Amino acid sequence: MHPFQTDDPHLRPIYEKVLARERLSANDALSLYRSADILAIGWMANSVRERMHGDTTYFNVNRHINPTNVCVAACRLCAFGRKKDSPGAYTMALAEAFQTAASGYTEAVTEFHIVGGLHPDLPFQYFLDLISGLKERFPQVHLKAFTMVEVAYLAKRAKLSIRETLEKLKRAGVDSLPGGGAEIFADRVRHIICDHKIDGDQWLETARTAHQIGLKSNATMLYGHIETDEDRVDHLLKLRTLQDETGGFQTFIPLAFHPDNTPLEHLPKTTGMLDIKQIAVSRLVLNNFSHIKAYWQMMTPKIAQISLRFGADDIDGTVIEEKIYHDAGATTPQGMRRQELVRLIREAGREPIERDTLYRSVTRTETSVTVAV
Ligand code: SF4
Repeated sequence: MHPFQTDDPHLRPIYEKVLARERLSANDALSLYRSADILAIGWMANSVRERMHGDTTYFNVNRHINPTNVCVAACRLCAFGRKKDSPGAYTMALAEAFQTAASGYTEAVTEFHIVGGLHPDLPFQYFLDLISGLKERFPQVHLKAFTMVEVAYLAKRAKLSIRETLEKLKRAGVDSLPGGGAEIFADRVRHIICDHKIDGDQWLETARTAHQIGLKSNATMLYGHIETDEDRVDHLLKLRTLQDETGGFQTFIPLAFHPDNTPLEHLPKTTGMLDIKQIAVSRLVLNNFSHIKAYWQMMTPKIAQISLRFGADDIDGTVIEEKIYHDAGATTPQGMRRQELVRLIREAGREPIERDTLYRSVTRTETSVTVAV
């Protein structure tokens, strides 16, 4: 590796800490956000990433199931949720949800990622039946389901505690939770962008409870809207503190805000510089998180690829992958997606490893799948 260089005097002490494997402070994190020396920040994040994972870069093959887009909240950040009677609102009957899962399913799929709106009428039993029905039909597929926000809403509607709700979901077949709904924990921002959601403390408390009962989860941060550097640092440090306590987070996923079709569409989109810096700062600050994901569907494949040299070790799933297995290796446009993903990773000088939700490597032939245990 080439030597570390910077003209930014604030980065030098951070470099010393990174070399000594010391934890960065809130002030260090702020200095990183405020520095324009992206190469120096990237150098440090990359050294941590290589220390933890070498060249390994993870991807997975999953299917998204969104049972409903009907939502009682009206988050200004959101282009997905609809009121019950609005055009475009939908709710899947259970049979429809199973059909959706089956229509996109081949043995390449190792995970169903299940999230949706906060529906005012669907009973808790619908969600339990959805999960147990999927488990019954696809017993080998990991069910990563319901954000902390959804769990808290289901608990409220079912008049159960968060713990009871999570326990019932786990018994029905939920294997882990995704990281969504965290947005930015700072109250001031949360009131503006997602006023009807649980607050930051409740999000963290729900995650804590999930981890305590043995459900792993991811964590996210929505950036690039009206938050400040201080808000981002506060968010990262709160996650780091909870991770010290529970160890239940698997992956941190910074999510760039996409303003189109939201009430905040007057805001500009994030820039490449911010996207890459966000990955690098996350890698440096969250020293107790194993994985930092560059979510290519949101960051664009090009920025996600560069992020693999700036701290990211995971590039998420490929969503149209499975046809290549369905067609037993036929060269189809869908099949190109996997090749393209692998090419992106290899051209970044990294080694692609297909993983399941729990980061166990998956080996495939055209007719079989093996998950390392
Ligand atoms: S809770 Fe989720 S689905 Fe509902 S409006 Fe907010 S972001 Fe959209």
